[in-house]
Amino acid sequence: MTEPLLRVNDLVKNFSVKGGVLRRTVDQVHAVDHVSFEIATGETLGLVGESGCGKSTTGRCILRLIEPTEGEVWFEGRNVIEFGPAELGRLRRDMQIIFQDPYASLNPRMTIGAIIGEALTIHGLAKNRQAFEDRVAELLEIVGLNADHIRRYPHEFSGGQRQRIGIARALAVSPKLIVCDEPVSALDVSIQAQVINLLEDLQEQFSLTYLFIAHDLSVVEHISTRVAVMYLGRIVEIAPARDLYDTPLHPYTEALLSAVPIPDPTMKRQRIRLQGDVPNPIRPPTGCHFHTRCPIRELPLCSTEKPPLRQSREGHWVACHLRG
Ligand code: SF4
Repeated sequence: MTEPLLRVNDLVKNFSVKGGVLRRTVDQVHAVDHVSFEIATGETLGLVGESGCGKSTTGRCILRLIEPTEGEVWFEGRNVIEFGPAELGRLRRDMQIIFQDPYASLNPRMTIGAIIGEALTIHGLAKNRQAFEDRVAELLEIVGLNADHIRRYPHEFSGGQRQRIGIARALAVSPKLIVCDEPVSALDVSIQAQVINLLEDLQEQFSLTYLFIAHDLSVVEHISTRVAVMYLGRIVEIAPARDLYDTPLHPYTEALLSAVPIPDPTMKRQRIRLQGDVPNPIRPPTGCHFHTRCPIRELPLCSTEKPPLRQSREGHWVACHLRG
């Protein structure tokens, strides 16, 4: 079997909650709770769940933009958690991120050329000024923008164009893996499809591998090879995309899918409305984290025992006592 490009093992991230006059740690937010998955070269893994479920924290831990509490992140056969500063610098070339907010993620005081080319300078990838400008112009054209825009500022661009600039910045260092952290959530629906199509084209052109984070299953449907669904810090289901959309197993996935519009107006899907809000990740429910909202729970089993992630059929894993 070939080694996956990325393998995440038992990743945990807790954030301290400070309180009192002395600002001591009084509690922990359990943002990522023993998450494991793999991504093969050239694949797109969609990572989906409601806001606050730990998906963006997972992405940032993989890139070591934040330090995980426990766990391993293997990239090309090496555990990046053990990397020192020099190896981390190299890793920043191989792994890049596209951020959610194209308005906040670009420095308003820098020109587009300086923003896209910053990493070229940091990694010494342009021999001289001409090589720098040629590469930035090439990147602008690759993402569908005009090379003449190099001396303009972010406020002169629309949201969709700014996200293209963010994509060009990520591509500048020729990465192997890109964490796309809700890259279309802040954009109009009509623009979302254009950006997703661009990401698909770039994946083919440059043999890219994506971790594509979204809060909505409809966004990741076409771009994902496989999809992982997260709830309150845990992966509850992971499967090949078509399999997950056609025959979801976990009740939470079913609820998320029931909110996805069907293009065929003659077909109707029964909307599953979950009761209550996502529980507080400082004190997640015991047993299955989903048991407080699950329409098919069985007590006391579901409230006392954590369901393991089990393979139900080829490549389709689910964490539920009653399914799979
Ligand atoms: Fe629902 Fe129980 Fe399955 Fe959790 S383990 S999803 S509570 S049936």
